[in-house]
Order: sequence, then structure tokens, then C-alpha cells
Amino acid sequence: MYHHVKKLMYTVRIGEPDARFGRMLLEQFGGANGELAAAMQYSVQGLNCEDEARKDLLMDIGTEELSHLEIVGALIRMHLKPMKESREAADADPLVAIAGGGGVALQDSVGNAWTSNYLKVTGDLAVDLRSNVAAEARAKIVYERLMSFTQDQGSRQALQFLMTREITHMRAFSAAIESMEKPPFSIGIFQPTPKLVDEFVNASTGEGEEGRDMEGPWNSGHGLHVVRQKAEGDFGLHVEPYDPKPGTEKTSPADSTPVGEYLDGARQKRPAQTMERQRRAS
Ligand code: MN
Ligand code: MN
Repeated sequence: MYHHVKKLMYTVRIGEPDARFGRMLLEQFGGANGELAAAMQYSVQGLNCEDEARKDLLMDIGTEELSHLEIVGALIRMHLKPMKESREAADADPLVAIAGGGGVALQDSVGNAWTSNYLKVTGDLAVDLRSNVAAEARAKIVYERLMSFTQDQGSRQALQFLMTREITHMRAFSAAIESMEKPPFSIGIFQPTPKLVDEFVNASTGEGEEGRDMEGPWNSGHGLHVVRQKAEGDFGLHVEPYDPKPGTEKTSPADSTPVGEYLDGARQKRPAQTMERQRRAS
């Protein structure tokens, strides 16, 4: 059940309205990384979630995002206000001024209509939570950029509040992933092909205007090693067929997978190793 309280989560005050900045702010109202997208992504994931504890997390944060939408909406409305009477201000965005009467609408900063295609909802909790960490990172960076394009103290303070909350959410989603007690790269119920899964292809080679061959932990970290391709006269990747059995990947009782009519005990999920057990094993 939703209930509206006539109070903002953060009270917005601005100095001089700036219609052009108001238009930029629409990115966080009806844009791809905006508040409505965040609210809907987490809420719909929450509706689908079969794990009671993490469903609560998704509904908590999904609902807070709606309160953010309200704050951003209030901020935009203040900045767009001059559009209602001034031709000069209306020039900042004719669509907003003429079609929308200088009010907020579910569109981004260049007028693209909001779409549910922005949402990442897979029905697999471990995958969805990872999408959410990335979504919070994107929201954070958009707020940061908006802040760098206004000198208005009140606007900056409201944006700082919203930006900070995204990092709080990012921490909560990360903690939720860890609390599932799955090995860090365990997704779904099918084990990836052994050997092949450890192979990093050095597919961009040589030296030229676009750079040179570099090495880093991404070549050798997390159990990876570099292989050279057959085209370069080497052995290439391990491509022998491998028939994975459902239920071979370590999963968590909180996972939403598996789906489908898998036999072989796929529905008896193998309990994930706890981090303590992993530590002891290594
Ligand atoms: Mn938010
Ligand atoms: Mn957030």
C-alpha cells in the first residue's frame, strides 16, 4: 500500500530560478538513470522477490526513490517557473514550455519519453542486486555532474542530499549481495565450463596510435590467465564441449533461480559456501 505524506524528504529552497538548468535536471526525473527508473526497478524486483528479507530491502529503497522523485520534481518546478511567463525562459525548452506548460514531465533532459526499457529486472536476485549497484553508481555520477553546472547554493545542497543517498543505497545493495553467502562469481545454477572460464583472451594486440598492449590484474586476478588466439599460432581457448548439470553452480537459498523443468535435482539448490568456510578452505 502506498501513502503520500505532504512533506518532502528534503526541503528544497533555491535562489534565482534557472530554466536551462531545470531542463538539465529532468534527466533525474524521467531519464534512464533517474529517480522514477530507480523506484520502478527496485519495486518491480521487490514484487518478484521470493526472499522475504531482501524483498523488504527492495521495497524500502524503491519507496525511498519515489520520495527522491518528489524532491527532484519540486526542484525542477522551481527552476522551470519562469517558463510560464517569459519567452526568453521558454526558449530553454519549447517542448516543456508549450506542451507541458513549464511543468515537470516524464522525459529526460532532451525530451525523450520515459520508458520501462530503462529497467533491469531479471527475476534472479543475485543478478538484480548487481544491476542495482550499477544503477546507484550511475545515479551518483549524474548528480555530481548536475552539481558542477550550477552555482545555486540551495540547488547544490538538495543535489548533494540526493547524491549521498545513492551511495547509501549502493552500500546496502552490496551488503545484500554479500549476505547471500555465495562465492563472488557464482551466478545461476549451471556451472561454467572448467578451464575455459579461467581464460582471458589478449584480443587487442600490437602498438599504434590507439595504444599498446598492457597487462593488469584483469589478466591474472581472480584465477584468470592469458591465452593467445589460434590466429596467432597458439592453442587458443579450451573449446571442448562441456555438459553442465543444473545445480552444479553454488547457489543460495535466497536465489530466485532455478526456473524451467530441470531434472537432476536442480530444485534442490546446493547451499552456498559461507564466507567463513571459503576462508577456511583457502
Ligand atoms: Mn534516488
Ligand atoms: Mn538510490
